[in-house]
Amino acid sequence: MDTQTILIIIALLLLVCYMNQETNRKIDIENNKYIKRLITNGKPVIEGNDNKKSTDKKSTDKKSTDKKSNDNKKSNDKESKNINFRKEIENTHKRCPHTGMKSKIIACIQYPPLNTGFLVSLCCPRCLSEIQSDFARPQQDHNYKITKKGEYYYFHGKDKKGGQIAPKCTLENTKIVREITKNELSTPS
Ligand SMILES: [Zn+2]
Repeated sequence: MDTQTILIIIALLLLVCYMNQETNRKIDIENNKYIKRLITNGKPVIEGNDNKKSTDKKSTDKKSTDKKSNDNKKSNDKESKNINFRKEIENTHKRCPHTGMKSKIIACIQYPPLNTGFLVSLCCPRCLSEIQSDFARPQQDHNYKITKKGEYYYFHGKDKKGGQIAPKCTLENTKIVREITKNELSTPS
């Protein structure tokens, strides 16, 4: 081989090397593009997760909305119940169920047959001790009584006109009766 042939071969090898590098460069570029596309295409997958999350959130929101509406329903029920309850107190607690006179005191009367204390509004402490001593006797000797009518209990005293709603002796009920009758709670003497 002469020197010229060797030079040509070297030149060709260099060209091949260069071409190879160029190809590699192009492949790199394409690879980068491909990776970029992957990342870009990957995005919707991430967004898909986001969508799932937001769907979850939506269903959670829906749940909490349901819960809210349930709560509203509950509180509405309670409110309407309270309105009826208050009306019954308005209607029956302003008069003493014993004498028919204007009520002046609130009393918690123990009713042994139900083993419960009930709030009544009376005109005087005398009525209170009369009722309480009546209830202290055996039930068959009672002149007065507390019975359930619908969802409420009613006290039936000497005055036979209907009866007085008798809420259980709780702080909340006492507050409501006090608020409506403007009377104070009394204890038996
Ligand atoms: Zn009285």
